[in-house]
Amino acid sequence: MSEFRDGTRCVHAGGPAPVAGQPFLAGPVFAAPYHLPPGGPDPAVDSYGRSGNPTWRALEAALGELDGGECVIFPSGMAALSVLLRTVLRPGDLVIAPDDGYYLARALFAEQFPDIEVRYVPAVGPWTPETVAGARLVLVETPGNPSLDVCDIAQVARLTRAAGALLVVDNTTATPLGQRPLELGADVSLGSDTKAVAGHSDVLLGHLSTVDGELAGKLRRARTVGGHNPGPFEVWLAHRGLATLDLRLARQAENAAALVDRLRAVPDVSGLRWPGSPEDPGYAVAAAQMRRFGGVFSFRLPSAAAVDQFLAKTRLIASATSFGGLHSSVDRRAQWGDPVPPGFVRFSCGIEDPADLVADVLAALS
Ligand code: PLP
Repeated sequence: MSEFRDGTRCVHAGGPAPVAGQPFLAGPVFAAPYHLPPGGPDPAVDSYGRSGNPTWRALEAALGELDGGECVIFPSGMAALSVLLRTVLRPGDLVIAPDDGYYLARALFAEQFPDIEVRYVPAVGPWTPETVAGARLVLVETPGNPSLDVCDIAQVARLTRAAGALLVVDNTTATPLGQRPLELGADVSLGSDTKAVAGHSDVLLGHLSTVDGELAGKLRRARTVGGHNPGPFEVWLAHRGLATLDLRLARQAENAAALVDRLRAVPDVSGLRWPGSPEDPGYAVAAAQMRRFGGVFSFRLPSAAAVDQFLAKTRLIASATSFGGLHSSVDRRAQWGDPVPPGFVRFSCGIEDPADLVADVLAALS
């Protein structure tokens, strides 16, 4: 499928070859045990639902193709991250992680990896050989959640490789259509598919993609023995959602561009960040390494009360803590403990009509 463009690949990725009388995307396979072949277990044949499932394999084929690697899916983005960390880290290892990143990744290190040293560094750099010296793993998130800082994946990949460490890129905000970290030199691309990939705010799911077949095998094995198995129905919903990712991202980015443009003139709005805007400090790197921009932007209102007031007045924007869905939503990140001012807002554009959205947001801020 690599000769086709994004919209075509999203519709066809991981789908079955056309067979008369068969559906375009087979429904989810619900199975705990499967019939065993005569003579006993065969690794090429599914035997038990914790270790293999055809619905999983279809989505893994799709996401692996879009990421340019081998994909292993998990029940959530956090499950993907914790299995990865347990698989590659050993007590005493050093991890380098960005200061702008998903807050539960910090909690995961603090609460479940007491034997791992984690050094937090500015996501925007400067990245030098000293930044990554001695590391076993470097974890970057770009654009970062929530501040949308951008870091240069290819540069960090070169440094990480020279230091003999693994580079993991949390690609959730960008999605596999927005950015291909493996092509830029990362060892692993991580996605919370709960967000734009599944895209309908009704599924939790995550995945890891890698070009290292041995690592992919270890991750699959860790999923099986650790019991981190995604539910087939959720996986199927995500695959169905993936088909429209190209369209949804295009509308979300269109909405972000329209809103960012109009919000610049609103007196109470400050600190607008959207990597797709030429005025954004991350724009040059983002434009060079991203294939398209997404629909998440951020800004500050003067106080938490001002955000509450905005939410009380808007007719279209939900107060919710995810992003990448059909519905536009706002999350005041300080309420979750992110190190941002009380009035800091992460805005996730949905796929509503741009004119309606702009009118509603401007009215709610007036
Ligand atoms: N990575 C990022 C950037 C996220 O924003 C999130 C969730 O918000 C995660 C990982 C975790 O994903 P999940 O909620 O699917 O466990």
